[in-house]
Amino acid sequence: MLNLLRRTPPADPLANPAWPELGRQMPLLAGLSDCEWWRLEARMRHFLAHKVFHGVQGFALSQRRLLQVAAQACLPIINLGDKAYADWKEIILYPTAFVSRIPWHDQAGLVHEGEWVIAGQARQDGPILLAWPDAQRGPALDGRNVVIHECAHKLDMMNGTANGFPPLHASMHAADWTRAFEAGFADFSGRIAQGEAVSIDPYAAENPAEFFAVLSEYFFELPHLLHDQYPAIYEQLRQFYRQDPGERLPLIEPAGLY
Ligand SMILES: [Zn+2]
Repeated sequence: MLNLLRRTPPADPLANPAWPELGRQMPLLAGLSDCEWWRLEARMRHFLAHKVFHGVQGFALSQRRLLQVAAQACLPIINLGDKAYADWKEIILYPTAFVSRIPWHDQAGLVHEGEWVIAGQARQDGPILLAWPDAQRGPALDGRNVVIHECAHKLDMMNGTANGFPPLHASMHAADWTRAFEAGFADFSGRIAQGEAVSIDPYAAENPAEFFAVLSEYFFELPHLLHDQYPAIYEQLRQFYRQDPGERLPLIEPAGLY
């Protein structure tokens, strides 16, 4: 006798009534073409189906919250494919900034032990940790996006420890990447060391890995600012992420200097 097994297809996470209006209200996603929006939704479906979310310290997960994280996480990979995030599985969400005890390496190579209160962390071979006050969609673009920041670290980790040199596409040239990022990092960390007021988050001067992750935030949030300051880096990120946020986002004046 043959038993016919019918499997119920998994529910479409984007069938939530909050979507797509939730996404349409996110300034980060403004200006996406119909084709880009379609690819974003495809990535989000895959992301929400394959990642495991944990809410800790009393943080309540909701579909609406997961959609916000997924939309921000998937924007950088709309043209990279689902495999770009295949190396990791878990996302841990905290209700507030949390304490990390992972040793921290500064740009001089010194290792600092201790406790730090942080808004996000991407662990090598492990999960991404996010504090909800920073991870929820921002009402305005300001160059700060902890979800994109941690996802950039994860892309950087695809070829080993995060060092600001992720695996490049075959069409790109390692020498161009290195030249642009080394010059940019030297310039920016020099300006910070001299106490100069800057329009990019000074945390970018910590080390080349943070420089890449912070500048990825600016690439997606304030692309015109990044292009003005470091056009060669902008061009490398445009090739790396295979998209050009400066073409689709309005020109926004940064709120102020650090
Ligand atoms: Zn970082």
